[in-house]
Amino acid sequence: MNIFTDKLSAALGDTADAALILSPENRFYYTGFAASDGALLITKTDALFFTDSRYTEAAERKLGKAYVRDSAKLYEDLAAIFAENGIETVAVENDRLTLAQFARICEKLPAVRFVSDASLTNLINEQRGVKAEEEIEKISAAQRIAEAAFDHILGFIKPGVTEREIGLELDYYMLRHGADGLSFETIAVSGVNSSLPHGVPSDKKVEPGDFITMDYGALKDGYHSDMTRTVALGRVSEEQKRVYDTVLRAQTASLEKMCAGVSCFDADKAARDVIKDAGYGDYFGHGTGHGVGVEIHEFPRVSPLSKDVLRAGNVVTAEPGIYLPGKFGVRIEDMALITETGCVNLTRCPKELIVL
Ligand code: ZN
Ligand code: ZN
Repeated sequence: MNIFTDKLSAALGDTADAALILSPENRFYYTGFAASDGALLITKTDALFFTDSRYTEAAERKLGKAYVRDSAKLYEDLAAIFAENGIETVAVENDRLTLAQFARICEKLPAVRFVSDASLTNLINEQRGVKAEEEIEKISAAQRIAEAAFDHILGFIKPGVTEREIGLELDYYMLRHGADGLSFETIAVSGVNSSLPHGVPSDKKVEPGDFITMDYGALKDGYHSDMTRTVALGRVSEEQKRVYDTVLRAQTASLEKMCAGVSCFDADKAARDVIKDAGYGDYFGHGTGHGVGVEIHEFPRVSPLSKDVLRAGNVVTAEPGIYLPGKFGVRIEDMALITETGCVNLTRCPKELIVL
């Protein structure tokens, strides 16, 4: 069907004779075609996309007529294809199918054995984790939109505007300037609220002395971007400066550590150690980063619990933070493309403390 489905065909190996992909995210990744309904069958030599009449014509245009089937008789067609091609084992996404979906395919297709261990999930994670050139371009295009929104918001923030207004202004700017959607619900928190890592924008007005943390991203051509910046309004205390500087040093340390072959544990530890050494170890509760692509949070995870190893082509965030309850918080987040010799920062916004 295309290079992405070919990649999975080639990698199936001993996992199973075929893979049946039902989740919208993985269907989109392998076909480049977004549809709320569909099933993607990938064998060792071929690929077929089943969808209903709402999508048939668009799917045929995108994927080629020969690769698209109507899903009205999905199970009968699959049973026939399995029988004709001697397919006995079919791998499924064990992290995405519901129990009801799994029970249904087992009942409807009793002649094959479904492989429901993590083997297909691991294979897909690895493939999706290593971005193709065209995917990096889409992520970067989304990021450029978010960066333009950041430039814009610096001129918008002044005493008296609310967190909600800041969040909405970022959203409107991105949508007005080419974003197909938002990566996730924009986080814009200020003052004491900035100590909430995933706080929701409120009607609180920003005031001099506040840190304002904005975590947001644009969705473009099916790919996400993700960035966080913390800026100050009016003035900053010595403690605020110290915390900001610590987070920036931690973030830089993690980016400097990131390279193909380095474990995600170590990439996380590089940031965590800086924060610990500065005495703020108890105030950094989340992982340092995550993969970004078709989904906003995807493989690999850069955290103390991760067993993953970075590979060239991974796009991951570096986003350590320090959150002092009842006081303030700081987080700085960039997206980095892992290479054989280090990483390329895909985020082009300044990181020195900006005082508006
Ligand atoms: Zn983020
Ligand atoms: Zn993130």
